[in-house]
Amino acid sequence: MGLLEKLMAATRPEFRQEDLAFDPCHPVFGGPACAVEGCDRPARSNRMCWGHFVRWAHAGRPDLDTFIATTPPGWVDQPLSACAVGGCRYGLDSHGLCQRHWRQWRRSASTEMEAWQTSTAPLPPPSPLPDVCRISYCDLWVRGASVFCTGHDGRWAARGHPDVEEFAASYEEIGPGGSEHIDLRQLSVQLRLEVRYALQCRHDEAAKKIRPAWAQRLVNALADAQVRSLLDEPEEFWKTFHGPTGNSATGWGTFLLGARRRVEELVHGRGWEAEYPRTVWRLRNFGIVHLHTSTITFEKITQPWLRDLAKRWARWRLSGGINAHTVRAGVRMVAFSAFLPAEVTGLAQVDRALLERYLADLHAAMGGRSTQRAHQQPEHLPAHDPGAPPGRDCRATRPSSPRTTPRRHPCCPGPWPSTSWPSWKTPPTSPAGRTPHDG
Ligand SMILES: [Zn+2]
Ligand SMILES: [Zn+2]
Ligand SMILES: [Zn+2]
Repeated sequence: MGLLEKLMAATRPEFRQEDLAFDPCHPVFGGPACAVEGCDRPARSNRMCWGHFVRWAHAGRPDLDTFIATTPPGWVDQPLSACAVGGCRYGLDSHGLCQRHWRQWRRSASTEMEAWQTSTAPLPPPSPLPDVCRISYCDLWVRGASVFCTGHDGRWAARGHPDVEEFAASYEEIGPGGSEHIDLRQLSVQLRLEVRYALQCRHDEAAKKIRPAWAQRLVNALADAQVRSLLDEPEEFWKTFHGPTGNSATGWGTFLLGARRRVEELVHGRGWEAEYPRTVWRLRNFGIVHLHTSTITFEKITQPWLRDLAKRWARWRLSGGINAHTVRAGVRMVAFSAFLPAEVTGLAQVDRALLERYLADLHAAMGGRSTQRAHQQPEHLPAHDPGAPPGRDCRATRPSSPRTTPRRHPCCPGPWPSTSWPSWKTPPTSPAGRTPHDG
């Protein structure tokens, strides 16, 4: 199964929408209720929903308690009034009337406006009824050939006739639903699936709240940056992710890192079974968290038999609770791996003579530099084969300092036989009295 299929299969229907809307009381995506009575949107600022907060701010930030007690629970942009003539849903033009009725009134002989309004004189609604305004929360009839009612058409003109959809969307922000949804339509297919899946995971964990408006800004930045998939970039990239214009918000890095890990886990699985065959082990998937070591790579060990041996050794050490940094240092057998002649195809062929040649070569190549010592450690050699049947000679060294009796693998019944492995105490080029290296 490919990644897309896996993501599809793992995402529940409620997270498969293009535009994710949430219950205002949702434990993760919602919030406490807005303080304005009758408003069921979550409070986002100054105890109010974003819509009421904006209305309060537009009103010049009056006394908060009074404002909360007196403001209507409707949306920040009050619905525009309709013509005073009963049954007419055209927007206002003058004197409480739409343009159509205002013209009719001026031509009439009547002097009593209110009486005229309620009489049978005003024109009945046109047939068929006009379309309603394109602004989602406005149910007034459109003006003439416009897609907006009189009031919204005027505002649209005042803004210089921008794109109709953009103009309408700008009202969505403050209208019902407002900023309490996450619109993923602008993302690439794969990234959309990844973000949905990550949001679902965060929903299921219910450990931390997510404001849809915050997530929407992140989605916008991802779209602007033309990201195709979270897996296209390494973790480091997402830690400090910002939009192309440099915009960023607190928590984006944490969310994206978590999202990338979850997607990666979905693809590759978790635990030894999933991780063991990989060239690079991600220690997190073993439940190992180390401040400086997050991976162990076997990339540079070119001989398959040696790589296999190194993996078995590393698994045994990690399972035994050995520090990940130490184990990683042990796996860096690069020099040894490169030194091995092609005819060596197994541990059985690594004899004392070969190792002594290796050490002599190393000495010549490094001239006793500090790194040399690290390469001479038994820690860096396939000292133990955990896959070997019990009773087979093996030695498991523990790089403790000062070195005492070598720790022996449970499968080893007797002492390390000096004939099958060189005595590391006196390697030909080893400086006397060295202390063992420990990671
Ligand atoms: Zn509210
Ligand atoms: Zn009217
Ligand atoms: Zn309108």
